[in-house]
Amino acid sequence: MRTTSTDFDVIVCGGGPSGFVAAIAAARTGAKTLLVERYGFLGGMATSGWLGPISPFYFKDERVIAGIPYDFVKHMVAAGGSTGHIRCTNPHGSGSYLCFYDRETYKWSAMSLFLEAGGTPLLHTWIAGTIVEDGAVRGVVVENKGGRSEIRAKVVVDATGDGDVAARAGAEHTVGNGSGLSQPATLMFDMEGVDTLAVKRYMDEHPEDFEWASEFVAVSDYSPRLPRPSEHFVGQGFVEMVGKAMADDDLYLGRDSILFLTTTHRGVLHFNSTRVAGVDATDADSLTRAEIDARRQVMSLSDFLVRKVPGFEHAQLAGTGTQLGIRESRHVTGEYVLTGEDVVAGRKFDDVVSRGYFPIDIHNLKGKSGYTGGGTWQDLEDTYDVPKRALVPVELDGLVMAGRAISADQAAHGSFRTQGGVMAIGHAAGTLAALAARTGTMPRDVDHRDVQAKLLDQGASLRRDPAAVERERQLAVDAVSSALAAGEISPAYLAEAETFSGRAPRL
Ligand SMILES: Cc1cc2nc3c(=O)[nH]c(=O)nc-3n(C[C@H](O)[C@H](O)[C@H](O)COP(=O)(O)OP(=O)(O)OC[C@H]3O[C@@H](n4cnc5c(N)ncnc54)[C@H](O)[C@@H]3O)c2cc1C
Repeated sequence: MRTTSTDFDVIVCGGGPSGFVAAIAAARTGAKTLLVERYGFLGGMATSGWLGPISPFYFKDERVIAGIPYDFVKHMVAAGGSTGHIRCTNPHGSGSYLCFYDRETYKWSAMSLFLEAGGTPLLHTWIAGTIVEDGAVRGVVVENKGGRSEIRAKVVVDATGDGDVAARAGAEHTVGNGSGLSQPATLMFDMEGVDTLAVKRYMDEHPEDFEWASEFVAVSDYSPRLPRPSEHFVGQGFVEMVGKAMADDDLYLGRDSILFLTTTHRGVLHFNSTRVAGVDATDADSLTRAEIDARRQVMSLSDFLVRKVPGFEHAQLAGTGTQLGIRESRHVTGEYVLTGEDVVAGRKFDDVVSRGYFPIDIHNLKGKSGYTGGGTWQDLEDTYDVPKRALVPVELDGLVMAGRAISADQAAHGSFRTQGGVMAIGHAAGTLAALAARTGTMPRDVDHRDVQAKLLDQGASLRRDPAAVERERQLAVDAVSSALAAGEISPAYLAEAETFSGRAPRL
């Protein structure tokens, strides 16, 4: 085995939403940083998994996610490749705001910010093992076209999503709900050549057939290159059609309704609509079976849409994820295990390093039905804190966890798992790793106040700012009110609690 350069301060393993943000944070904090990624581009599930939107950075109208994740979104907006977060007029379902993005812009914005920060990427490279000495991770074993080699660093960040580094180093962990059952997986796809006006018309005329439907308004600068905010919509439904088609054996699908969203591309709709339950993302046989099942569902559903659903008469399947989308796998046990109770109670911690805000969203673990038939959707009363201790494995030194594999139970993971949550955790993980490397301290021994100070320097939000909340609420109210007055959105889609009457909204 070859030994490569040994003088990295920080190696970030995995270039998904948590990993590339962690790598930018580490590099901006002054650490000599290597980012190792198995694919030829960054973004993880957001790009290779073919995701649609970035879910809210917001709790109600309060923007909770700031700092590097927000810099990243602004970078995509400036490149004309993202709507930024636009507000749902019916903030049920996936939350109050969605950010649509072009996946190619996403890949390049992530890479650009990392290169600008002075980091070193290593693509097409698989983390195949770890170097553990005296109870501390001292580097990783990588495998690529050149063979196998060792790369050493002072601190390693595990942002592989599946906790591969921690598991290989022997860290204590659980999988899914503790009995090995994780959230179901989904192979995402897009349809092109869609008459989106016809699809929207069907939604307008059949509200009873949709579990969730929303229009959008922009609350900040909006690129003239993209479809207007009022052209965007999201729907979860076609319940009757899907039910009948499945009963008649005319559709092969793992769930009983269709979730679809507009995109940054005109005439292209995105589908988060297949479901494979019981996948173990740490087992290649399980993944192989799941990829085949999910692909069968994509082919069946895309064909069904063209044959049966208004607006798809001239549409085609435009593309699927490079891989099946994995929501959940390992949770690496840390110094603190964040729980569903913490999330529901809006618990705050002295060693807060990021904030959580998204509802607990656990897709049905075993069946086809949604939140009324086995899944969980629980709105939160308040934001909660993610403590630094949840990023530090309970026994192993030299390692910081980032992203969806941090120390948590299934319910807590069900909340922080969307992109805003994991990006903010990545910001904290990269900063912690860099401070540990620069001061020659183990991550668990770094004073959380130093991490907080650095995060605040980099614009992160660690506590509520009531004045900002007030401003952000007013922005939303003004945006919805003026779009209503201009006839750009329909009152029919406004949630009951969100009735805006002209310029004088009911708050
Ligand atoms: C089907 C589905 C739908 C979703 N919908 C939404 C949504 O609408 N909105 C939203 O905000 N979020 C959504 N999410 C959640 C979002 O995808 C996650 O928040 C996010 O991707 C998690 O980021 P991560 O960095 O923790 O892990 P990942 O995105 O999984 O990234 C891990 C990275 O590590 C790399 N990697 C893994 N193992 C290795 C290895 N051994 N060697 C080298 N590289 C490795 C991978 O290639 C990848 O780039 C969805 C997720 C799924 C699966």
